[in-house]
Amino acid sequence: MSTTALTCKNIEVDFDGFKAVNGVDLTLDRGEVHFLIGPNGAGKTTLVDAITGLARYTGSVTKDTAGKGAVELRGKKVHHIARAGIGRTFQTATVFENLTVAQNLDIAAGAGRSPWTLLRRRAHLPANVTAVIEQIGLHEHADTPAGILAHGQKQWLEIGMLLVGDADVLLLDEPIAGMGADERETTGRLLHDIAATRAVAVVEHDMDFMRAFASRVTVLHAGTVLAAGTVDDVSNDPRVQEVYLGT
Ligand code: ADP
Repeated sequence: MSTTALTCKNIEVDFDGFKAVNGVDLTLDRGEVHFLIGPNGAGKTTLVDAITGLARYTGSVTKDTAGKGAVELRGKKVHHIARAGIGRTFQTATVFENLTVAQNLDIAAGAGRSPWTLLRRRAHLPANVTAVIEQIGLHEHADTPAGILAHGQKQWLEIGMLLVGDADVLLLDEPIAGMGADERETTGRLLHDIAATRAVAVVEHDMDFMRAFASRVTVLHAGTVLAAGTVDDVSNDPRVQEVYLGT
């Protein structure tokens, strides 16, 4: 069953009179992998910046917490938004290169506790860390320093760090950039696995990846929502074809 995790209403981001995001409504549901697509400059990154507290905006972003009602995120600090369960990755994975996969996850799981306390209890990894290592396919690399992981594995580790931190909404910026075909396929399957219980949004340029793995698509153009719906809905929309193909 899908439930709404995040609701954005009438989001506007103004950079000195230029509206990079201009009245966007968006809902992200648990159970879906929601692709945000659109040409360069459409406002995708700025929208994600707004949701995560990095860009000022008007409108409202509410996080719906099962059983506990909705929490308004506008005006909250970046770390409060993260603690409310909104997790984000960037195109370049930011992991602790000198620490092992398990240590990276352990630190992310215990964010707020001293890293040194966490390192000392290395022998007994919490159950959620062990489960996430399996889920992201790095069980054979638990003791591998993150710095020597392959590019794709680093991206999966970063996603894993959001999972152990209990992010309920994941906002991923081009998670397959630089990946080969097998890694893309693995990533697509991982995103669906994660979306079984959480909301996953993916900012993406790769249309083949979108067609293969999107449950729902929102197309942004010039700061507004041009079209939204299933892959078929948006692919057949003449306005989307015009923006992408100039037809
Ligand atoms: P996308 O992620 O879809 O490529 P962006 O959100 O990065 O688009 O950018 C949307 C528009 O906002 C672009 O025209 C960009 O130049 C502009 N923009 C982004 N950040 C800033 C900023 N800090 N100041 C001024 N303009 C910005």
